[in-house]
Amino acid sequence: MTRNYYEVIIGLEVHAELSTKTKIFCSCKTAFGGAPNTQTCPICMAMPGTLPVLNEKVVEYAVKAGLATNCKISRDSKNDRKNYFYPDLPKAYQISQFDKPLCYEGYIDIDMPEGKKKIGLTRIHIEEDSGKLNHDDLGGGTLVDLNRAGVPLIEIVSEPDLRSAEEVEQYLRKLKSILEYIEVSDCKMQEGSLRADVNVSVRKKGETKFGTRTEMKNMNSFRSIIRAIEYEAQRQIDVIEDGGQIYQETLRWDDVSGKTFSMREKEDAQDYRYFPDPDLVAIKLSEEYIENIKNSLPELPESRKKRYLEEYKLSEKDAKLITSSKYLSNLFEEASKISGNSKAVNNWIISDISRILNETETEPNEIPFDSKQLAKLVMLIDNGTISSSIGKKVLEELFENPRDPEKIIEEKGWIQISDESAIKEVVNKILEANPQSIADYKAGKDRALGFLVGQAMKETKGKANPQLLNKMFLEQLNN
Ligand code: ADP
Ligand code: ZN
Ligand code: MG
Repeated sequence: MTRNYYEVIIGLEVHAELSTKTKIFCSCKTAFGGAPNTQTCPICMAMPGTLPVLNEKVVEYAVKAGLATNCKISRDSKNDRKNYFYPDLPKAYQISQFDKPLCYEGYIDIDMPEGKKKIGLTRIHIEEDSGKLNHDDLGGGTLVDLNRAGVPLIEIVSEPDLRSAEEVEQYLRKLKSILEYIEVSDCKMQEGSLRADVNVSVRKKGETKFGTRTEMKNMNSFRSIIRAIEYEAQRQIDVIEDGGQIYQETLRWDDVSGKTFSMREKEDAQDYRYFPDPDLVAIKLSEEYIENIKNSLPELPESRKKRYLEEYKLSEKDAKLITSSKYLSNLFEEASKISGNSKAVNNWIISDISRILNETETEPNEIPFDSKQLAKLVMLIDNGTISSSIGKKVLEELFENPRDPEKIIEEKGWIQISDESAIKEVVNKILEANPQSIADYKAGKDRALGFLVGQAMKETKGKANPQLLNKMFLEQLNN
């Protein structure tokens, strides 16, 4: 109940791993999943005497992200050292950006049931990722893997403009889709290439001053982020209602217990002793450079959505869902082009494909089949080879073990029976077995026909052509 007297304030710091081929200050590969320490060199291992050289692609990708999120771009920027000690950070400082981020003062629009809402972006800056600690249960020690050390990141800092877990989810989904569209990050949350620090505070409605915030670090699933915000907001309200006080601290969210735990007192900027990295030169961008990047931006989700309303006559809701992901949207356009039936493709995506994605907690970029295979499925239904109920089974196969739908139905013997004599045989068999239904039908109970058709479908394992079945039952019954 007290929840209604409070307002929840949230601001996010989102880290997105950039999909450059090489690291930010050396030429090591960034590919995910390599054996530990195979993608390292003296620079990213912090050997004394080595010098970093900034990867130009990183600047380009960050500027792209800034332009796609309505940011201003700094013509004059630099790299700073953020000093702290941790075993996954071999230099004992992270090269980041302090007071002159590459991009600043942007925003993105999110769609809420009440309408559009602008979420301000404070800044986007570039920095390097740290290594990874692997706790070795057998040996009892901790092993350091530096493959990720020096992988380029952008940090996207939002204003404290978010007011609920739902808004946070919409914001993250929008941001993720923009980054995917402009191809600067693959945004695979399960691989950690998109993760968020979530800052939460509460205040009584009507108050103008923000409350003290806590910060939950490194969250990488929508579900945990939503749960964590709900939990943490309620925890803070309970503390305040009990006459207690919120301390500014860094928390750890535990998915199993569904609670937050204190990790440490929150550090301030001055704790990091930021200073300009003397090994790197200033980043100066010309108007022409920025203009060229602006011109290279692809069509973004918002304008794709508009185009779908006109070109494909999709509903607002369907267009929003499909364009929310570059992968879904490409799947839609390509499969529509190949099959010539955008309406059917749209239906598959918004109903069965979305349902399976939800049920299996799969992201669209993990869909295992391609647009050709989806188009083939649509065409096989359109030309009567399979019924739409068999189509659903084919789709499940495509998720399980993607291959040519034609092969699937051949292997499984799912080809639709449209042969009149075969259907007639089934119809007669079902009629013989159900004299009561015949009597019911003759007595005016139309439902009996549906029952008979259902029985025939069962008999043929869904393979009978339903129109033909209907027609032949009617012929026999009216005889
Ligand atoms: P840092 O956490 O690195 O010290 P900032 O002071 O820039 O950085 O703030 C980080 C994030 O915290 C921003 O996304 C900002 O919107 C959010 N934030 C700041 N104050 C609050 C608050 N009172 N409640 C919720 N979020 C806040
Ligand atoms: Zn290296
Ligand atoms: Mg922070």
